[in-house]
Amino acid sequence: MRQLIRGRTLSFHADPTDTENAFTYHEDGAIITDNGRIAAIGTYADLQEPGLAEIDNRPHLILPGFIDTHIHFPQVQVVASWGAQLLDWLNTYTFPEESRFAQQGHAPQMAEHFLNLLLAHGTTTAVAYCSVHKQSAEALFSAAHARNMAMIAGKVMMDRNAPEGVLDTPQSGYDDSKALIEKWHRTGRQRYAITPRFAITSTPEQMQMTGQLVREHPDCHIQTHLSENRDEIAFTLSLYPKARDYLDIYETYGLLGDKILLGHSIHLEEREIARMAETDSHPVFCPTSNLFLGSGLFDEGGLRARGISSGIATDIGGGTSYSMLQTLNEGYKILQLRGQKLHPFAAFHWATRGNACVLGMENEIGTLAPGSMADLVVLDSRATPAMALRMERATTLAEELFILQIMGDDRSVAQTYVAGQPMLG
Ligand SMILES: [Zn+2]
Repeated sequence: MRQLIRGRTLSFHADPTDTENAFTYHEDGAIITDNGRIAAIGTYADLQEPGLAEIDNRPHLILPGFIDTHIHFPQVQVVASWGAQLLDWLNTYTFPEESRFAQQGHAPQMAEHFLNLLLAHGTTTAVAYCSVHKQSAEALFSAAHARNMAMIAGKVMMDRNAPEGVLDTPQSGYDDSKALIEKWHRTGRQRYAITPRFAITSTPEQMQMTGQLVREHPDCHIQTHLSENRDEIAFTLSLYPKARDYLDIYETYGLLGDKILLGHSIHLEEREIARMAETDSHPVFCPTSNLFLGSGLFDEGGLRARGISSGIATDIGGGTSYSMLQTLNEGYKILQLRGQKLHPFAAFHWATRGNACVLGMENEIGTLAPGSMADLVVLDSRATPAMALRMERATTLAEELFILQIMGDDRSVAQTYVAGQPMLG
C-alpha cells in the first residue's frame, strides 16, 4: 500500500559531531511509503500526487523511530524498585521477578505490555534481554513479529549466582538459544542476540558454550554487561582469577567484535579501552540506570576520542524511563558532569541513526532514506503547557530539539509508525 505522510521531516545521514552537513530537514516535508518501506522523501510540493492517500502530521516533527539498544523485557514490573545498587538490586528485586516468567501465560501478557510501552514512547526497535526461560523470548518474538516490529532479543544464559528459578545449564542454555536462533533469527524482522547475562552469572563452561554459539552464528548480535559497578567488577574478577580484566573474560571466549553490545562499560581500564577500539566492540550508555543505581558516569567523549562508537539505551528496569527523550535528557546531564556537551543534533542522531550504526542496521532503520523501513516517530514539541510556553521563545530547530530532549517524554509522541502503519490511537 502506497501513502504519503506529511510533516516536518528530519533525518540524519551522518554524525553531527563529525560534520556540519549531517541532516536533511524539510519544513513542509513528506514521506511516501510503499509496502512498509520509504519510497521517497522530499518537500510536500514535490511529492504530492493526485489520488494518493495522505496522512497530515503537521505541525509536528517526523523522525525515524527511536532505537533502544539495551532493555530488559522481564523487568517491566521491576522499574522503580527502591534503595539498592546493582548486585543487591538484582538479588532483591530482579531475579525473583524474572522467575515469574516460568509461569504459563505470564510472558505473552508482558510482551504485549512491553511492546505497547515501547511504541507509546516512540521506540520502534529494541535490543532486549528476555528471562532465562525459552518461552520468554518465544513470547517477545511472536508478539513483535505479529506487529512487524524489528526486535533484537535473546534469552539470558545464566547458570550460577542466582536463585534456582532463573538458572539454566551450559547445555540447556546452548540448546535453547540455538533452537530460538533457528526459529526466529531473520524470521521477518526478528533477529537474535546471543545473551550471556554477565560473567558473574555464567560459569566458564557456559562462557565456553556461548563462544561456540557465536562461532556457529556469526550473524547474530551478542549482548552482555560490563563494568557497571565497582563491587560487580571485584566479584567478577574473583570468579575469573586468570583474567587480565573484566573485558578479557569476554575476549577469552571469543565474544568481542562489532556484533557485541557491552551494557554500561563505565569503569574501564586502559587495556580494555584499547581492546574495545581494536575489536570494534560497542559500549552502551544507559544514563537513567547509571544514575538510579548510583553506578557512575559514562565517558562518551573519551571513548569517542579512541574511535569507539557507543549506543545509548534506557536499560529498563535499572533505568527509570522507557523514553529515549528522557534518556537523552539524563545523558546530557551525565556528560555535563564529565565536562562534555551533548548537542541536540548529536542527541537525536544518537537515538536514531547512531544506534542503527552501532547495530550495523543503518540501511534498514534509523534514517528516512529511501529503501529504509518506514518506522517513524511523530514528535509534538508543544505537548505540555510548560513545553508550549517555552516553545514561544524557540527560534531554531536546534532549540526545539533541545526542548524535546529535556522536557519531552511519551506525551510528546503524537504517533509512531511501524513499517508505514500508525500504531497509536
Ligand atoms: Zn542491563
